[in-house]
Amino acid sequence: MVRRKGYIFVLSTTLILCFIVMIFTAVSQSSVMTNTTESKKNSVIVIDCGHGGEDPGAVGVNNVYESDVNLSFGLKFNDILKLNGYDTVLTRNDKNDIADKSLDTIAKRKKSDMYKRLDIYNSSLKNVAISIHQNIFPAKSCSGTQVFYSKQNPLSKVLADNITTSVVSNLQNDNERISKESNGIFLLDNAKVPAIIVECGFLSNENETYLLCDKEYQKKFSYCLFQGLMNSNL
Ligand SMILES: [Zn+2]
Repeated sequence: MVRRKGYIFVLSTTLILCFIVMIFTAVSQSSVMTNTTESKKNSVIVIDCGHGGEDPGAVGVNNVYESDVNLSFGLKFNDILKLNGYDTVLTRNDKNDIADKSLDTIAKRKKSDMYKRLDIYNSSLKNVAISIHQNIFPAKSCSGTQVFYSKQNPLSKVLADNITTSVVSNLQNDNERISKESNGIFLLDNAKVPAIIVECGFLSNENETYLLCDKEYQKKFSYCLFQGLMNSNL
């Protein structure tokens, strides 16, 4: 029995060691695969969660702040992109804006916030900027995603169209909106790289606000953004 126990001990130890080696090899391989995937991505995705800090953006049904909803969507989209090997840059990753706090008026601080975001968009020609916002409208029945694109770079329209297609086919079959060219949207009009604004939905619509605040819906929507990006070969 002692011998047999010794044999079992050696066998068990060997199996445990083999298992550890297998796990280690698998982890090494997966990190190599991740690196390989990363190196294949040419674009850096700038995720711009609109508003923040002293600017809540639209205030919707049940006092929902657009700035908070934008951040939730942006962080989920960032998770999906990172998992798929993309490099990302977030213009903000918490409730704060990026305004120059030393300026003495809200208007000046807001302007500095917008210029800093634009600087991030244009900081590299590898960037693709996706700005996330929510809509609001007096007619409470209005709902559905609307995407705006920059006319400065033709890939902006490609991306906007593909994201619209993905959202409509996966989540909003009755949405008939088509993507629109920006006219007077500061960030899109001045972006040198492919840039779009996604107005995910209407915070003035009660049913849609419920969806826009739902974590699972935010994830599904983020996958649509990702699918649109993939289909644009960016
Ligand atoms: Zn907004």
